[in-house]
Amino acid sequence: MGQLVEGTCKNCGKKWELRLGYGLMHGRAADVAALFPSDVRRELPLEEMRRMDVPWSFAYEPAVCAYCRDIVTVPVLRVGKEGTEYVGGCSVCGGAAERVPREELEKAKCPDCGQAGLRIRDAGVWD
Ligand SMILES: [Zn+2]
Ligand SMILES: [Zn+2]
Repeated sequence: MGQLVEGTCKNCGKKWELRLGYGLMHGRAADVAALFPSDVRRELPLEEMRRMDVPWSFAYEPAVCAYCRDIVTVPVLRVGKEGTEYVGGCSVCGGAAERVPREELEKAKCPDCGQAGLRIRDAGVWD
């Protein structure tokens, strides 16, 4: 089950809802690979991942998208014992978004008004 996280900017009042982690549909290698652009997909050891010969884990992680001026999620896939990371684009526009660890979200600047001071709270689970 994924974690539902809500954010509010104390300055301008903008609100976000982020679905972090992973849901029921993210248990199959092929479904997860489909979330990534084709150039990333080509690099994945998809057959080995399917057979679970290669360990892998998937999660949506928080990120700030300068284009959307929003806090969004990006798909992150870790593959192999070394945990090689493959990061997909902004879940809204598909562009490159800058990842911000969940613990550091409160310190991030609001992408809408540019002021620091976000209130982040856990709002339950999804899926
Ligand atoms: Zn704001
Ligand atoms: Zn975006």
